[in-house]
Amino acid sequence: MEQENRFNKKTVRVKPSPIGKGVYACQDFRPGDQIGPVCGRVIDDPQYGSSYCIDLGHERSLEPHTPFRYLNHGCEPNCQLVVYDIENEANEVIDQEVMVEVLRPIQAGDQLLIDYAWPIEAAIPCLCGSPKCRGWVVDQTLLGELQRTKQTQSTKKMVHKTKKKCDGTKDE
Ligand SMILES: [Zn+2]
Repeated sequence: MEQENRFNKKTVRVKPSPIGKGVYACQDFRPGDQIGPVCGRVIDDPQYGSSYCIDLGHERSLEPHTPFRYLNHGCEPNCQLVVYDIENEANEVIDQEVMVEVLRPIQAGDQLLIDYAWPIEAAIPCLCGSPKCRGWVVDQTLLGELQRTKQTQSTKKMVHKTKKKCDGTKDE
């Protein structure tokens, strides 16, 4: 309950974005600000996966509730998720908290964006619209590997296209 009270609903709101729902700032934030904790359901299953879940480490995931459930990916993120392990006196992790922290200055009305840094198997084309867009929702360090895979595929398609041209309107 306390966690919910800490979250002031006026700091952010969920509204439609160009790619589905998004989370928008209702006030300015500075780098280092903590916008709020991501509340949700903790799942103790290493096999668990969903489009929204957050990897907590220790083979656990967090299925976030609104509003931060709708944080979209951006290749130039202005926020990041930080997982805090909360330990007891014996240094055992007894709880975890995920905090949305600000990376770059945010003005009221800006959409909050994080870098999903997905693995290659999960990569999808990116529609973030940033001038620095990587083209894929994928971990930056894996981008080179992903592009090599995709280049091989597009080369195959080009061969196919050339064939079609020869079959067509050569002599009319
Ligand atoms: Zn992008």
